[in-house]
Amino acid sequence: MIRLIHSLDSKNNRDAGFVSIVGAGPGDAELLTIKAFKALQEADIVLFDWLVDKSILALLGEKTETEFVGKRCGKHSMHQDVICDLMVKHALSGKRVVRLKGGDPAIFARTVEETQALEKHNVEYCIIPGITAASGASASSGIPLTHRDYSQSVIFTTASLKNVDSEPNWKELVHKSAKQTLVFYMGLGKLNLIVNRLKEYGLEDSFPIAVIDNACTINQSVMTGTLHDIVRKSICNQIQGPAIIICGEVVQHRQNVSAITTQALGKYALNTTESALA
Ligand code: SAH
Repeated sequence: MIRLIHSLDSKNNRDAGFVSIVGAGPGDAELLTIKAFKALQEADIVLFDWLVDKSILALLGEKTETEFVGKRCGKHSMHQDVICDLMVKHALSGKRVVRLKGGDPAIFARTVEETQALEKHNVEYCIIPGITAASGASASSGIPLTHRDYSQSVIFTTASLKNVDSEPNWKELVHKSAKQTLVFYMGLGKLNLIVNRLKEYGLEDSFPIAVIDNACTINQSVMTGTLHDIVRKSICNQIQGPAIIICGEVVQHRQNVSAITTQALGKYALNTTESALA
């Protein structure tokens, strides 16, 4: 069955090179898809982001090269054009390249810039989806993203736009928040702004909001509160990120998911990290 679903099996001509743009999920290696796992096993080189957990890199074969192409401490360590050039260069030299991204490659991941570069150079590629941070955080915190009574849709958004001086359309977001869930990616550094704008545009102090830090890792922490107290709570809890922010009535309908799952996954992550470093 695995052979049938693996996209690279049809790629017999190794000379041509190939790029798999792979979603690594939100942290824990056990959340990888089988397809992603197989692409990683077969890769000659893996170009990975800062959000990719070490437990996933620990799954690579000894001969697989790795190259960090992410950013650290909020600063881009590698320009997007340089990452595109690297992917193209390695593929044209005949390698099976995995471009490994945190979460899902279709969500806030600059995948289009990369596929455009590959197409420009006639490099064949595929995209392998991953579990996005919102889904991972929802499952591991127990906060649903929709609810038949309180939230019929969900918006994945960000307050960190390409133009740093721009802001989202707050009026529209607040208008839609009545029966929707708002999920902010890359929002931790802007939590104050998000809270203030949501209030300015009409949401009550009591509006529910949650911050999930390091979802699906051993360091996960979940803070639930309201627009009134969430900033104070996240400062007190020294939230470091990556963190995802969920706003809406769903926060009040948190399910009592067993901590054992998270702990078990965390242990797994820790063990594989240790073996990678050994
Ligand atoms: N493509 C990714 C998102 C990249 S944007 C995805 O689909 O998940 C980076 C943002 O994702 C972070 O700033 C944070 O908001 C969120 N994120 C990624 N991993 C996370 C994690 N383990 N826990 C909480 N938020 C996470």
